[in-house]
Amino acid sequence: MHFTDDGIVIKNVNIKESDKILVILTKNHGKLKALAPGARGKTSRILAATQLFSYGSFTFFESRGYLKLDSAEPSEQFFELSHEITALSLASYFMELLNMVGDSDVPTEEMLRLTLNALYVLAKLKIPEQIVKPTFELRLMALSGFEPHLSNCGVCKKYARNPMLNLNNGMLHCSKCHSGIDGGISLPVPEATLAALRYVLTSDLKKIFSFKISAEPLGRFYDICEAYVKAQLEHDFSTLSFYNKLMMQNTYLGDTQK
Ligand SMILES: [Zn+2]
Repeated sequence: MHFTDDGIVIKNVNIKESDKILVILTKNHGKLKALAPGARGKTSRILAATQLFSYGSFTFFESRGYLKLDSAEPSEQFFELSHEITALSLASYFMELLNMVGDSDVPTEEMLRLTLNALYVLAKLKIPEQIVKPTFELRLMALSGFEPHLSNCGVCKKYARNPMLNLNNGMLHCSKCHSGIDGGISLPVPEATLAALRYVLTSDLKKIFSFKISAEPLGRFYDICEAYVKAQLEHDFSTLSFYNKLMMQNTYLGDTQK
C-alpha cells in the first residue's frame, strides 16, 4: 500500500552501504520511521530529500508493518542553517526534542507547523536564538501534552502573587503558597516573563516568534523554558549540551575581545 504525506526529516541514521533509516514528522500520519533504500547513493533520486531538516512530500510503501520510502520531493531544506554553527546546533536540538515527544498516533500537524516556522525564522529571518529557543521549547511541550497551567495560583486558586512556576507539575503558584505544592522545584516568574509564557502558549503559530520583551525578563523566560523541558522530560539532550557549550564560548570570546 502506498501513501503520500508532507513532512520533515527529524532524524537520519546511516545503515549498510547506502541505506538510511529516517524519522519523518508528517502532517497527517504522526512521526514515521522508514527505511530509505539507496538514499546515500550519489545518483539517488532521494539523496537531497532525505537530509536532516529537509521538508517536502514523501511517498511511503507499507508492507508487513514496515515502511519504506518510495519517493521524495524536497520543497525546503533550510540550507542557510549550515552557515551558522549556533543556529545549526540549535536546530539539531529541536530535532532531538521532536524525536523525544509525541507518539506516532498523536496529531502532529501543529507540531510540524511550529517546527517549520522555527527553522524559517532561525535560517531566514535571523530572529534572535534567545527568543526562538524558549518559544519553540514551551509551545512544543504544550503540543505534546506537557502544557503548564498559568492562569491562577494552583493552590489558593486566586490571582498568583509573586508568582512561581513549579517545573515538575507545571503549576503556577503564589510564593506564599509554596508549602501547598507537593515537592519539586519552583522558580520565580516575573510578570513580564509570565506575559511572554502566556503569549507563547496562546499565540497563533504565524506570530509566535514576534513579541517584544526586555533583556532581564527574556533571560528568565529562557532559563525557565529550558529547565521546564528538562524537568518534564527527565532527559539530558546531547545537542543541548553542545549548544550551551558554544554559547558559553561565544560569551567568553565576546568578553575577551572587548
Ligand atoms: Zn496562592
